[in-house]
Amino acid sequence: MTDALAGLAAEIQACTACPLHRSARQAVPGEGSADSGILFLGEAPGYNEDVQGRPFVGAAGQLLDELLRGIGLDRSRVFITNVVRHRPPENRDPLPEEVAACDVWLRRHLAVLRPKVIVTLGRHAMYKFLPGESISRVHGKVRRLDQITLFPMFHPAAALHQPALRSALVADFQALSLLLATEQRPVADDAAQKRADQMTLFGS
Ligand code: URA
Repeated sequence: MTDALAGLAAEIQACTACPLHRSARQAVPGEGSADSGILFLGEAPGYNEDVQGRPFVGAAGQLLDELLRGIGLDRSRVFITNVVRHRPPENRDPLPEEVAACDVWLRRHLAVLRPKVIVTLGRHAMYKFLPGESISRVHGKVRRLDQITLFPMFHPAAALHQPALRSALVADFQALSLLLATEQRPVADDAAQKRADQMTLFGS
């Protein structure tokens, strides 16, 4: 982890901006690669995340790991965090004021990570970027927002018990894989390839 990410994690661990810090065991700041350019944004820590202080380590996390592996990605190669960093009691939905209080940490993570692609998992994460949208309508569709490519998906926890959502997630991960292959092709390589093509054309 970079110094900036470690410093940010320490600040998040000390956060008392909303009442959730009182009922949670600890904050779950997020983890993963600082320079992959890919951020996965979930909803909030659950029981296992609260115990371990790490995002997506319970049943939904296992499905997320499986989906990532399915497109040749290990979780250590992306960054994973949530819109709310402390577990809501009984895993209830985060309240709008809790999401708002945690917004500062999302902005700080975005400033440090500068992701090219943000994958939102579930509607709470999607609302951060597309307020009022319907997840059923926009999942698996690319949205360009300024410097960021947004890719909304269903939440893996929802897919655990609904086979139709699971198939949609699998299909969306395949679409994500194609997107990443396009987004991550370095511009320099394109230029080099063009030059190589021209050299062949002109017989040099
Ligand atoms: N669900 C989430 O949204 N985030 C986690 O970290 C775990 C489960």
